[in-house]
Amino acid sequence: MEHRAWSHGCAGNSTGHISLHLDSHYTKIESNFGRDKAALVYRGQMEARAEIERNCAELEIAGFEGNIDAYIYAESSQEQQAVRDEYVALSRAGADVQLMEHWRDIAGVPFDTELALKLPGSAQFDSHRYCQALARAVHGDGCAVHERTRVVGVKDGVPCEVQTEFATMRAPSVICATHTPLGVSVLQTAMIPHLSFVVAVRVAQSMPAGLFYDTHEPYHFTRRLDSANPHILIVGGADKKTGGGERTESECYADLRRYVGRHYTVQEELAHWCAQYYRSADGLPYVGTDPGSSHVWVATGFNGDGLTLGVMSSIIITTAILGGTHPLASIYSSHRFKPIASAKQVLSESMSVAKHLLLDRFTTKASSLELLQPGEGRVMKVGGNNVAAYRELDGRLHAHSAECTHLKCTIKWNDAEKTFDCPCHGSRFGVSGSVLEGPALQDLEDLLKECCPRKTPAALAPPPRDSHPAQS
Ligand SMILES: Cc1cc2nc3c(=O)[nH]c(=O)nc-3n(C[C@H](O)[C@H](O)[C@H](O)COP(=O)(O)OP(=O)(O)OC[C@H]3O[C@@H](n4cnc5c(N)ncnc54)[C@H](O)[C@@H]3O)c2cc1C
Repeated sequence: MEHRAWSHGCAGNSTGHISLHLDSHYTKIESNFGRDKAALVYRGQMEARAEIERNCAELEIAGFEGNIDAYIYAESSQEQQAVRDEYVALSRAGADVQLMEHWRDIAGVPFDTELALKLPGSAQFDSHRYCQALARAVHGDGCAVHERTRVVGVKDGVPCEVQTEFATMRAPSVICATHTPLGVSVLQTAMIPHLSFVVAVRVAQSMPAGLFYDTHEPYHFTRRLDSANPHILIVGGADKKTGGGERTESECYADLRRYVGRHYTVQEELAHWCAQYYRSADGLPYVGTDPGSSHVWVATGFNGDGLTLGVMSSIIITTAILGGTHPLASIYSSHRFKPIASAKQVLSESMSVAKHLLLDRFTTKASSLELLQPGEGRVMKVGGNNVAAYRELDGRLHAHSAECTHLKCTIKWNDAEKTFDCPCHGSRFGVSGSVLEGPALQDLEDLLKECCPRKTPAALAPPPRDSHPAQS
């Protein structure tokens, strides 16, 4: 069951790196889990990569480019130690990794670096095309892929029940491959949702093959589109916490474009997009039954590596449902996260703290809906309600409760994507109040009538721009 069109989630919006390396870094995995487990994680990355390559070959999915080297590089002497440490941790995990003092000559990359590590054996592909092809392969022979079918409730049991907007289905096992568990799960307290930004640009220089990652926090990455298009680059980074952080989403795009401009001679920007990922507390994903459930399975907390970790999760979960045990099952176990209090208590405590902080910080004081300009959205107080308001370009107004329907955090306006995003667990809503992604199962409550009981839409037309008050 797919809420929207197939492959319009994060996987379809990824940048198609099939990396043996992990965003959370093997140094962190070693220190959190030990050397033996870090080595198993590395083997898991290779297994997932091989599975993707096999599927591309069997289903004749074009665009897979294997044998791509990944590079993690330091741009300053202060960053060198991080590269050296990662080199050591990767070597210990069994990777055939090299340290490069003179990378510029070897890789032909058009910018300087102090030190780099080179990790052969990565790959790149078109993840959207891949997901589409998998769905086509699955559909039929007793299997069905239902698009535009939103799940609004999942109940553990024998059998489990999956409620959609249209019908209730029963199944012995249910896998929520929904990026984050649907509804309330204790795992949501162990993850922080982040937005990551990407631009595709045509540049003057020709880029060699490779997946290039710097060591900034947040880091940037670059790869060329494919071997036929060495002048088209996909560059990403400027990540921020969803609904939080110092910068607005527009400022993140601006940061990323400045970074691109510093390193490449840009001729044309071809596309830009942003997507969300979930950073787990200890650097590895949570895979297994949803804590508290016996037959509802989840796979989440992939950081920026869900193409490989998602594939690995599918192998772990199907092995378990069929009665086996994958060697990575205990390392990625969804039950390794043990909150000190009960799930409910942890959630409600973190919610109330976040709620107050966010209310103070992000709601505009004493605003009026009439002041919203076309294309503008805001979270504002209207008659005692926190309202998520947006004015369409044609003047129509939307006013919804700014309370996230997941756990009542206050949502925040995303000025670049024109969405309302929840900083607590990553639920995101469109300007018309509908759930776009995240754990929330219900749309935002419509407050238009309550906010403007006697006013006609014409009366709500915005004033001329020059009378717009300064925002607090
Ligand atoms: C900008 C960006 C670039 C990235 N690039 C890479 C990369 O190069 N390599 C890599 O390994 N990882 C990358 N990642 C991470 C990776 O894309 C994700 O971790 C991965 O795609 C998550 O896969 P998923 O199947 O769990 O979630 P999704 O791909 O988001 O799929 C979940 C699906 O569930 C559906 N769904 C949700 N709720 C419901 C519901 N109630 N009812 C029915 N359906 C529902 C959604 O519509 C969606 O289609 C990137 C992440 C970002 C943000």
